[in-house]
Amino acid sequence: MNRIHCHRCGQLMADGSLKYQVAVRVLSLFDGTVPDREGSEAKQDLASLVAEAAAYSEEELTRQVYEDDIFIMCPACKEAFLEDIYAHLHPKAAPEHGRAHLIH
Ligand SMILES: [Zn+2]
Repeated sequence: MNRIHCHRCGQLMADGSLKYQVAVRVLSLFDGTVPDREGSEAKQDLASLVAEAAAYSEEELTRQVYEDDIFIMCPACKEAFLEDIYAHLHPKAAPEHGRAHLIH
């Protein structure tokens, strides 16, 4: 007997019951533009960037670039999770980036 609990509400989900894996992948996005900096300003920026990076652990730095998590959820929590995300989409978000694009 598996003892799988919903990661969101904690409910024990019976063997054979409908449950979901929810994968969350967060990747940093490079838009192809490197901010233009000149001379001493660029050197100062690099030095402060190195100092700032040194204050973080390797794991923290990795999480700023890439984060991948898997959650097990009951059907109600899966729906609530998705509704929460899509309820917060900004009206200016392009339709191609919205939920309709992700449904196959
Ligand atoms: Zn749940």
